[in-house]
Amino acid sequence: MTGPVPQSIARTPRGSVEIVWSDGLRAEYSPRLLRDACPCATCREIRGAAAPPPLLPVLAAAELVPLAVAAMRPVGQYAYGIEFSDGHSSGIYTLDYLHELGGGRGPAPGQPGPESGGPAPQ
Ligand SMILES: [Zn+2]
Repeated sequence: MTGPVPQSIARTPRGSVEIVWSDGLRAEYSPRLLRDACPCATCREIRGAAAPPPLLPVLAAAELVPLAVAAMRPVGQYAYGIEFSDGHSSGIYTLDYLHELGGGRGPAPGQPGPESGGPAPQ
């Protein structure tokens, strides 16, 4: 694998995680973003199976107990395990996945371009 790798990982004052990547991308990941993107089997099942939970305008619970990244530990060479303040820690985030979450160039085979869909000019 020759993808971008983190040059530095830091906690921001707001509780987000900031990763500076070897390709120059500087991305900030909020705990909520990471938690919602948790790639573990349990979370994928929840996201895929049931209807999404209703979005309530009042985030009382979240305000009482703000979600935080409790720990981030390397898993092998190419992934991080992230432990959240809600106790969930089974998600393993590969570097590719993290880079993509941060807005990096992910594999985007279906990305619409000017060549797709429109009538080709003669
Ligand atoms: Zn999970």
